[in-house]
Amino acid sequence: MSRIRLLPEALANKIAAGEVVERPASVVKELMENSLDAGARNLEITVQAGGKRLIRVLDDGEGMTPDDALLAFERHATSKIRRAEDLSQIHTLGFRGEALPSIAGVSRLLMETRAKEEKVGTAVEIAGSRMVGVREIARAAGTTLTVRDLFFNLPARKKFLRADRTEMGHVVNVVTQYALAHPEGRFALAGSESGKFDFQAVDPLRDRLFQVFGGELLGQLVELEEELPLPSASGSPQDTGSAEKLRIHAFVSKPEVQKPNRRSLYFFVNRRMVRDRILMHALGEAYRRILPEGTFPVALVFIEMPFGEVDVNVHPSKTEVRFRRQSMIHDCLREAVRKALMEARPQAAFSIQPERMEVEPPLVPETADRRAPTWLPRSGRAPVAGTASLPLTVGEPAPAGLEPRSDPQTPAGPAAMDDPSTPAPGRDPPPPTCAASAPVSREQAEAIRAASAITISPAHIHPLGQIEDSFIVASDRGSLLIIDQHVAHERVLFEKVLRQRAKGRVESQRLLLPLIVELNPRQQILLDDLTPELNACGFEVEPFGRRTLAVKALPADLGPSDCSRLLGELLEGLEKEDREVSPERVREKIAASVACHAAIKVNTHLDRAKMVWLIDELLKTRYPMTCPHGRPVILRYEKNEILKAFKRI
Ligand code: ADP
Ligand code: MG
Repeated sequence: MSRIRLLPEALANKIAAGEVVERPASVVKELMENSLDAGARNLEITVQAGGKRLIRVLDDGEGMTPDDALLAFERHATSKIRRAEDLSQIHTLGFRGEALPSIAGVSRLLMETRAKEEKVGTAVEIAGSRMVGVREIARAAGTTLTVRDLFFNLPARKKFLRADRTEMGHVVNVVTQYALAHPEGRFALAGSESGKFDFQAVDPLRDRLFQVFGGELLGQLVELEEELPLPSASGSPQDTGSAEKLRIHAFVSKPEVQKPNRRSLYFFVNRRMVRDRILMHALGEAYRRILPEGTFPVALVFIEMPFGEVDVNVHPSKTEVRFRRQSMIHDCLREAVRKALMEARPQAAFSIQPERMEVEPPLVPETADRRAPTWLPRSGRAPVAGTASLPLTVGEPAPAGLEPRSDPQTPAGPAAMDDPSTPAPGRDPPPPTCAASAPVSREQAEAIRAASAITISPAHIHPLGQIEDSFIVASDRGSLLIIDQHVAHERVLFEKVLRQRAKGRVESQRLLLPLIVELNPRQQILLDDLTPELNACGFEVEPFGRRTLAVKALPADLGPSDCSRLLGELLEGLEKEDREVSPERVREKIAASVACHAAIKVNTHLDRAKMVWLIDELLKTRYPMTCPHGRPVILRYEKNEILKAFKRI
């Protein structure tokens, strides 16, 4: 029984109509989409003369029965949708039933296919829509489409094709995009020396990025993964109450990477590469005030959402989408990227490996004696030197672009994605070239990152003094460090509270007399939710009459005088949040508030021992470069920069 059906005319008319065969790359795109929709894991693509002479896509997908093999060339014949309702739940890359007939209309085409359940395969040959022959063949399950002499019957269209190298460049881009979206598949491209590659199936996605772009670029990117529950759109008849999710997995460049155009921005929605202004805007917002005007980051953003949330039937090329809940998607992406950038934001040329150490640092001293500053080291404790190692990037060349990795001999090619705001002019740049690459392990990727980094340890850092009793100045083997003492200590305390909280034992101090804090009605309600977490973070709070609160114990580092201000600020902050705040976020907010209020202030004199202690503790944290609010902690001036500034080199 054939699975492909002709769409009824009324439904066919609802589908965004238009030309799909524009150039060889668009043929490659449609054929790869068909292969992926057929469940293929192995795609071998061969291209000759930039695809003008030959395009072949071989797959190991489910193949077609003899009936389907013929029906596939009818206009509006598809196995992917049946009814009008299906248009609102498109879960395949194709759905229009137009690609094969369109391609067969402008080329000499040979399709060889065998369905898994069939004994024999079928070959169908068509030239310019005219059936040339059908025969039985023997072959493995799967499909091979060979498209020769594109536009042989349309000389005017043929003339508009560009140089082989340019067309090849477009083919490389489109294959690369699909390879990025489907790391579980093997994508091999052959046919031109400079544009060939073989990306073996990999997991995780990060390894695919390494195959495509190489380690240098990967080292410039921050990876983020967010999963957010999608509140079900009320009133939806299909609302089953099941928790639907929005998943964002992205790689975004650190602030020091600046691109002159949007060509290094990739967006994938449900594994389909899209161009979308909403997503572009969200990303722009996330980088606002981080990148100078007119410069752009590098970003690969993979978003997954229920199929019903996104309409792909907008444009025949299926690269434009419409989100049902535009502003929500926009805000989620912006916030996810912002958060990731905050966490990874280095002010100077540091690159951080967050997982670099898991050593439990010694606790900051008991604070029973509140006259002593809370951060004072316990006397006699030697700093744990040499355990923390913070890799720094030094004098790195400008980061690589997002063009696929180049052969060193050949110039880098055009960008993988045209800037949608500026239609591609008729340039004829050399095509991008991808070095053929074997599968790459995460260890290799890490090794490459590490090779471009040096290590600092507290043993190398010598505090020299303070500026205005607020900033520690230190040397580090010829480089100069300026450390904001308040935010440095904030980072130390923040991680300490969270670490102790995770272990369920936050150090706490009981107060002789409870502190009484007054609340407004809204705060009273917020506090009910907050109390268990406050208590788990070293507080002991209890309602005390109407709209007043008794605080009986505090986290060890916090002074009683800081407490009521801290609670006031915390509640005020939560009042401003219009969305529901997750428990993790509440926990972080409490930890950040405690850290902020307990941390050593600016305008405080530190002797050398205290400075050594603070630097030591800071370097033991997971993110020594930023305070919990995202501000930088350390500025670094490299030896080379200093020498250059003095014109010594
Ligand atoms: P669409 O992809 O929009 O359905 P196409 O014209 O691209 O339309 O393909 C028509 C049909 O041919 C598909 O629905 C699918 O059933 C079948 N088909 C095309 N290519 C393949 C392939 N590589 N493997 C299996 N089936 C395929
Ligand atoms: Mg298709």
